Amino acid sequence: MEPVVDQLSFAAAKDVSYPLPVYAVLRAETPPALDGWLESDSWRGAHWIETFLSVETAQPADKPTAVALLWDDQYLYVGFKCREPRLGYLHANAVEAHEVWLDDAVEIYLKSVVPGIESVDTAVNTIGMVCPAFKVISDPGWGTYQFQTPGGVRAAIRCTGDGWQAEIAFPFGEQQLPTPRAGDLWRGNLCRNDRLGFTWSYWALGQSPGYTYSDDKLFPFLRFSTDAATPPPPRVHRPARPRKARFALRGMMYDTSRGSLIYTPQYWIDKLPLLREFDYNAVIMYFENHLRYPSHPAFAPEGSWTLDELHLLQDAAAHYGIDIIPAQTSLGHCPGILTHPKYAELAEEGSDSYQFCPAHPGTMPMLTDIFNDLCAASQSPYVSINADESAYLGFCPRCREEYAGWTKGQIFRQHILKLYEVIQAHGKRMMMWDDMLWLYPEAVEGLPRDIILLDWHYSLHRRYPSVDVWRACGFDVVACPGMYWVDNAFWLADYGAERGAMGMINTLWEDHSLPLGSRWQHLLATSWAAHAPAPDNLDTWFADAGMQLFGPAGARLGHSLAAQDNVKRNGYGNTVPSSLEVAIARQIREEAEKLLNDSSVPEATRGLLEEFVYAQRLLTLQAEATRWQAGSEHNPTERHRILAQAEILRAEGLARWQRQCTVVSQQPAFFERYTAIEKALGAGNSVGAPASRPMPLK
Ligand SMILES: [Zn+2]
Repeated sequence: MEPVVDQLSFAAAKDVSYPLPVYAVLRAETPPALDGWLESDSWRGAHWIETFLSVETAQPADKPTAVALLWDDQYLYVGFKCREPRLGYLHANAVEAHEVWLDDAVEIYLKSVVPGIESVDTAVNTIGMVCPAFKVISDPGWGTYQFQTPGGVRAAIRCTGDGWQAEIAFPFGEQQLPTPRAGDLWRGNLCRNDRLGFTWSYWALGQSPGYTYSDDKLFPFLRFSTDAATPPPPRVHRPARPRKARFALRGMMYDTSRGSLIYTPQYWIDKLPLLREFDYNAVIMYFENHLRYPSHPAFAPEGSWTLDELHLLQDAAAHYGIDIIPAQTSLGHCPGILTHPKYAELAEEGSDSYQFCPAHPGTMPMLTDIFNDLCAASQSPYVSINADESAYLGFCPRCREEYAGWTKGQIFRQHILKLYEVIQAHGKRMMMWDDMLWLYPEAVEGLPRDIILLDWHYSLHRRYPSVDVWRACGFDVVACPGMYWVDNAFWLADYGAERGAMGMINTLWEDHSLPLGSRWQHLLATSWAAHAPAPDNLDTWFADAGMQLFGPAGARLGHSLAAQDNVKRNGYGNTVPSSLEVAIARQIREEAEKLLNDSSVPEATRGLLEEFVYAQRLLTLQAEATRWQAGSEHNPTERHRILAQAEILRAEGLARWQRQCTVVSQQPAFFERYTAIEKALGAGNSVGAPASRPMPLK
């Protein structure tokens, strides 16, 4: 067996026939913060044991665990770092303290510490529940014992993209551990219950594999040292900031129409310096019915953008080298237009006002009008007609007669070609989504090759072969990931960059009442992917991203988001969030709130952080409310707390809405999370319900 760590010396124990390690517990000059982060000078200066042995094989366990101990006059501190690639599947089901050891957990065993206490076995799980069991001799004559659970043992857990870590403190004193003197030798062992990996691993085992962990004759020694934990010089870490662009067009697409916050042009103008900082040079603004055209003003609700406002934003963006590219739906995704009485007759039969009928004599003149308006007003050399998810083709009697014998792809192509003529007449290049061409490949033949295909993929794949197909057909391609997974942007951008894609545009759809800043990691992932290959380690990438935006203190928020990303990809899909998911949501909220109070956060990104904090408070409350509804939390006080906090947050949300948004018809989307919280808690009309409180427009 390898020595556990270099820092250990060995001493012969009287009761075993081989040497046992002696671990020097160093003094913590500054008390650890007990926040679970294990980054302080004391922790960095502690002796870290970095090999845990599997009980089954006596070999290092597959998942690394590291542990260190410190002490001062008040506490014995234990820090664990547990590597875990699949946080989302961890067991964190304990309700009572005595069930903690059945979860994924760490355990600390101590023995022969003080007369009367036979041993200490304290377990802590991944959501910070502590079972501080002391085994106490109740009758020395008979050798019977009982367990006590002393209070005062504290634990803080933090999750990162690489796993979870625990910071545990045992107070010294009455009914607690006795205060040690320098030089005292205690005996103990340290354990990780890897329930997910079916592995129990330990600092020290016997000479052969087997379940000997509780054999306290094998426990190594803990020597309380007078030496202070002296940290090595801090490693200066400067996050890499790649600058060489891989794409001619790089940036994002924002859905200004569905379940999103339809921001005022001024909101976007205020964000331009930051987008420039990310080296974006394009933002596609996606419109359904929220752009008011002079030729057809009726379908745009109150507060919609005007073409003058679009022009104003384009002007401002041009100063930052950013092209605002308008995208107007022109076939499917048009319910906002087609439910308006004036345009209802243009809807295709059976599409529930979702799609235009291409054969209706009013359709193309109307679309021609609005694209003429748009092209005349827009400064961008590009315009997108969207045309995605538009499969209601050839249904109505008119279409059946007009297109008798045609395939759906032929009908689709004809519609596209008509729009192409309108746009080409303005000297602009047409963009469109590629999915319908994938569905009806016969539509590809005869399509002009200067149409730019927006190739969208929102799931995680290592390969995206559609890029190869469109390139082989002679199209320029823009790789379009979605802001759901950062990997999606990294991998699709890598694939596109290797195949000469002209652009990488990350898409943000239907953000359901969450402000733009709630996706800051995706905004930064877009910037990264536009310039550099996918990073090797996501946890490091998230931490670097946090530092890049919010300064050195931003790393913890980055690690916390990386933990949530880890959970989402490993266990995502539960309607009711697990206790660990709620714990991580709270961790993210806490770290973001701390950051908000940190004066080192640059002024330029403070607005983004404020939006993130608002969103994270709302998301955490929603997760808590969902768990309450599912019966995981029965405490009526908890229900009251959630409702009260939601009410406070709603007032902030209302102010935010009035300041940043103008489209009255989008109010329900903005407040839908409050409505969901209220519903989950069986509450009345107190939290959501914007309709009952008319909001003045600014
Ligand atoms: Zn039709």
